[in-house]
Amino acid sequence: WPGCGRRPVSYDQLRQILLDTPSSERAEAWSRYYTAGPHLAGKNYSQALWTRNKWAEFGIHADIVSYDVYINYPADHRLALLERREYEDGTSTSWKVSFEASLTEDILADDPTSGLPDRVPTFHGYSASGNVTGPVVYVNYGTYQDFEDLVKANVTLKDKIAIARYGGIFRGLKVKRAQELGMLGVILYSDPGDDGDITEEKGKKAYPDGPARQPSSVQRGSTQFLSFAPGDPTTPGYPSKPDAPRQPVHTAIPSIPSIPISYTDALPILKALNGHGPKAADLNRYWTRNTGLQYKGVHYNVGPTPDDVVVNLYNQQDYVTTPLWNVIGVINGTIPDEVIIVGNHRDAWVAGGAGDPNSGSAVLNEVVRSFGQALRLGWKPLRTIVFASWDGEEYGLVGSTEWVEEYLPWLDDANVAYINTDVSARGTTLRVSAAPLLDNIIHAVTASVPSPNQTVPGQTVHDLWDKRIKTMGSGSDFTAFQDFAGIPSLDIGFESGPHDPVYHYHSNYDSFYWMEKFGDPGFAYHRTMAQIIGLATAQLADLPVISFRAADYAQALDRYVKQVEDKLDEVLSPAREIDISSLSNDDVYFELRGSTRNSSSSSSSAAASAGSPSAESFGLSLKRLHKAVGKLNKRAVGLDKRADELDRRLRQHLPWWRWSTKLRLGFQIRQVNTKYKRLERSFLFDEGLDGRPWFKHVVFAPGLWTGYAGAVFPGLVESIDNQDWANAERWVDIIESRIRNAAHRL
Ligand code: GLU
Ligand code: CA
Ligand code: ZN
Ligand code: ZN
Repeated sequence: WPGCGRRPVSYDQLRQILLDTPSSERAEAWSRYYTAGPHLAGKNYSQALWTRNKWAEFGIHADIVSYDVYINYPADHRLALLERREYEDGTSTSWKVSFEASLTEDILADDPTSGLPDRVPTFHGYSASGNVTGPVVYVNYGTYQDFEDLVKANVTLKDKIAIARYGGIFRGLKVKRAQELGMLGVILYSDPGDDGDITEEKGKKAYPDGPARQPSSVQRGSTQFLSFAPGDPTTPGYPSKPDAPRQPVHTAIPSIPSIPISYTDALPILKALNGHGPKAADLNRYWTRNTGLQYKGVHYNVGPTPDDVVVNLYNQQDYVTTPLWNVIGVINGTIPDEVIIVGNHRDAWVAGGAGDPNSGSAVLNEVVRSFGQALRLGWKPLRTIVFASWDGEEYGLVGSTEWVEEYLPWLDDANVAYINTDVSARGTTLRVSAAPLLDNIIHAVTASVPSPNQTVPGQTVHDLWDKRIKTMGSGSDFTAFQDFAGIPSLDIGFESGPHDPVYHYHSNYDSFYWMEKFGDPGFAYHRTMAQIIGLATAQLADLPVISFRAADYAQALDRYVKQVEDKLDEVLSPAREIDISSLSNDDVYFELRGSTRNSSSSSSSAAASAGSPSAESFGLSLKRLHKAVGKLNKRAVGLDKRADELDRRLRQHLPWWRWSTKLRLGFQIRQVNTKYKRLERSFLFDEGLDGRPWFKHVVFAPGLWTGYAGAVFPGLVESIDNQDWANAERWVDIIESRIRNAAHRL
């Protein structure tokens, strides 16, 4: 067995190569290349070719894999405020345009790509064409709960146009809820109140003169209904090959138009709301969180504006079915059916995209180059490593989802883990989401990489990290791996901390100039992320015994069951209110504000009657889950121990060992590895989650109404939210049988 022989380049030598090779200068050069011009999905073929050729230069063979997908490109748009005026004689009226939104970002002399002639207009991916006119309502962040609050306050939503600020939940879900409530269209703007202390109001200069938000900056982005299924909306669950049958799209993408704007463009619209309808503060205390435009004269009234003050929103999109290009590079290992995949996307909303995704693209190139260097030095890889530069992520994880859908049988058999990076560098705070099997690898790897910040000499990334590992939600290319194929995944990058310059997400100012001056001067964080990803890949791909920890999974499951119990308590005692208005942790805030939890409008009495299971009897069912997890934990601890033993034996490998000894050891390692490889797959449920069958994982999914933030035991938690105890019982059965099955297979 290959793992038992002597290696021409040892694991420790490989690690040294992966630490020594990445360079800031190279990362900067790649960033410069990738940020030099527009590269929307389906319009970046030259960059796909360039990437493939670069990887070949580094010694990694790569191919371009293409899909024909349904996406939109912007054609035309307009946003204006109209007011009806009476003529002086009082006999007739006319409409006057009181404000015409610019819908463009300023060209800045300092920032060359902000003025490219072919820069990308401001628009939403998968938005509906339409021309609508009506009064405006301010809907806060547009979370499910925000809309519930409006309904409760008797604010008319039907036939109105929503203006929501960006933040927290995935933007497509804001549009989805507005559409369900009969609204005509949605305007999304970036409120500087959500930039913390880095604002002009608090004395910081705006970009390019300082770290605060450039007032004309606009966040583009997809408005597909992400948490219902990612990928090409015409081919849910199967690959968009040219001859693939196509499904209707109306359940997957909006039917009402939406438009993204800057806060400069939002000001006149928000001010038109002054004095109309309740104030945000009257509605409830959550609504005053981070509002940042009072100093510009906005009172944050909810509206609606009166019938003689309306907004005209016009959005024209061209829909096409067009090729996308993933670049797939392969290092063949000696073990053919154990594969590690490392990916990042290449398409961007804007010409620059220095953070999103090109910090990731630059980092990935450095990782590929480092492994190429190891091959040159004679390294013989153990497992197969696949590198992926995805296209079409921005529209809805399209390139990665189609690829996973196409290669599912092979991935199911062979894929051990997927490592994703998207925005690799835009600040100084390490952010990690991962499946529990990978927890220990993240700790080990970050402890081996020096931090660019050396306030204390010798500081590692691990020293400066808050040690939080978030559960997998969605919003980047790991989604199909984790939630559709059941492959343990990791998503990692440096994000902005509270004192870092404001990141101009999906804006023209996410540019090379911004990155060089504000985001990562010297490209040190790029280099560090390349080292982290290199080492994580090596630890997964090149240690004979896969270094998963099954017990970490079992313990995580136990914590998740406890979370469900807390949730149940909350539902059973609706009077108990949690004060989340002061929560500094955005994830928790939006998880709660995005949830469907709604104690006043749904009642438990209906479900509790006539023999159907009640909340109380249901509470006992969760005990079954604890029990099953306990069993899994026992087996998992046993497997981890066995893995450690085999690892120890292998390390004391002695030259006089007979071939039969090696063979036996190799066979035992192979057995353990296969168990580790299959563990995550045990949690797939073929029918999928209720109402969103594409999502197959019973433990992890994007929150139904959060999109980005993850939910644990989503089927179960949603049933509890709906106080549907029969369905909750059904989910306990499904989950329990999966946990027992997993334990059995260990
Ligand atoms: N990462 C992109 C975003 O957050 C795409 C996410 C998606 O559409 O799934 O806008
Ligand atoms: Ca598909
Ligand atoms: Zn991205
Ligand atoms: Zn993006």
